[in-house]
Amino acid sequence: MINTSYDDLHEECGVFGIFGVNDAANLTYYGLHALQHRGQEGCGIVAVHERNFKRIKGEGLVTEIFNEKNLATIQGSAAIGHVRYSTTGGGGIENVQPFIFRHNTGDFALAHNGNLVNSNELSRYLQNRGSLFQSTSDSELLAHLIKKEHDASARIYNIIDALNMLEGAFAFLIMTGSRLYACRDKYGLRPLSIGKLNGGYVVSSETCAFDVIGAQFLRDVNPGEVVVFEQSGMTSYDYSQFKHHQLCAMEFIYFARPDSDLEGCNVHTFRKESGKLLYEESPAEADIVIGVPDSSMSAAIGYAEASGIPYEMGLIKNKYVGRTFIQPSQELREKGVRMKLSAVRSIVHNKRVVMIDDSLVRGTTSRRIVTLLREAGATAIHVRIASPPITHPCFYGVDTSTYDELMSAHKSTEHVRQLIGADSLSFLSEQALFTAGNRTQLCLACFTGNYPTTLYQSIRDANRDGKF
Ligand code: AMP
Ligand code: SF4
Repeated sequence: MINTSYDDLHEECGVFGIFGVNDAANLTYYGLHALQHRGQEGCGIVAVHERNFKRIKGEGLVTEIFNEKNLATIQGSAAIGHVRYSTTGGGGIENVQPFIFRHNTGDFALAHNGNLVNSNELSRYLQNRGSLFQSTSDSELLAHLIKKEHDASARIYNIIDALNMLEGAFAFLIMTGSRLYACRDKYGLRPLSIGKLNGGYVVSSETCAFDVIGAQFLRDVNPGEVVVFEQSGMTSYDYSQFKHHQLCAMEFIYFARPDSDLEGCNVHTFRKESGKLLYEESPAEADIVIGVPDSSMSAAIGYAEASGIPYEMGLIKNKYVGRTFIQPSQELREKGVRMKLSAVRSIVHNKRVVMIDDSLVRGTTSRRIVTLLREAGATAIHVRIASPPITHPCFYGVDTSTYDELMSAHKSTEHVRQLIGADSLSFLSEQALFTAGNRTQLCLACFTGNYPTTLYQSIRDANRDGKF
């Protein structure tokens, strides 16, 4: 029986692939290193040489899992890699990707980022046809869907059929003995970009991985598109005519690296613009503007520039502590924040401070920082959040928590202000996110509750039972 718990389906990851370039595994190592911020729990690389698939994977950071010696054992001119960030449950080496599927019509490897919303329905459908599952992973579902006809190899029409059955958010990389397929969900929820390198191709969740290996950005994979890379070049197929451009707003707000471009918009530029709009919507009288390192620096610079209030380094981050969300319990998260950030007393003492954070999820970070700043002698603390209040859970693979944990889910801004202890608190409007990205579509479901996809009964049940 398959496990239908949604706890082990939360994944926020990074994928990287390379086709037609020597030393593909080595280059994938550098690519994954640039994507490390998307997942620190585990990572893996599969390379293929003369139809022979070899893999290295483990739990830990990219620099901990790979070294010159083990990378030299996985040769070939095609490889895919993955960095994994799982939250509660779902840990363990067996869930570290890429997965390899052995089949008499040809082996293939899979890596994915995102979350399907109809996995329970698909598992039931496949089990009724006789499939046995080892895990509840979305990759395994896709593999079974591709292979559901007995004589099916991982060929484009089987892949197109399979992709058409998936509902949700995904960027999938599929590597066969002679091809690499890059697939993106039809809503455009998760990002995926294509680059060129030495006559070959590179695909990555974020463009920052291209710069590090000297690849040139070519274009993004479009929503509802599968791009095939093979010896003869690159071919595009639209597996769906339904196409939306509802890229996850949290990619711009928090996840992606500032030097990445998402669908033509640089992430730092987006955040800086959102900071400027935040000032226009919610000005504050203050002596200095500070940002929560690192993800809020760009928005803080934008707020400072627009207001004319000097930007200062009022908080310092200890780089050697992981992101606060990695700690499972609230108590440990509180400790994590304490370990992670310190206020610079000589800068904030006797100052009225505008403190910018990119988002407020459980409220732990803001509450703790307000306390730190008061202890360091700030005379007023105006908290400005460069995104709207998060009021709904995400079903697309981003850990924005359950209803019960989300501080803004059932509370007014004034109530949240009191709980975090700030002198004033404001959030950015939804409209400002469109303006900052110079676009008309984005997924904002965790702010609005308007989910771009159908939500299936099992997700609604899990949601009702408080699992989200
Ligand atoms: P919280 O302390 O729970 O309010 O979380 C807000 C902080 O976590 C912000 O400073 C963000 O930079 C960061 N953050 C926002 N979304 C996520 C996420 N999905 N995973 C990890 N960290 C996040
Ligand atoms: Fe991103 Fe929020 Fe949409 Fe999830 S619900 S994909 S976190 S914008």
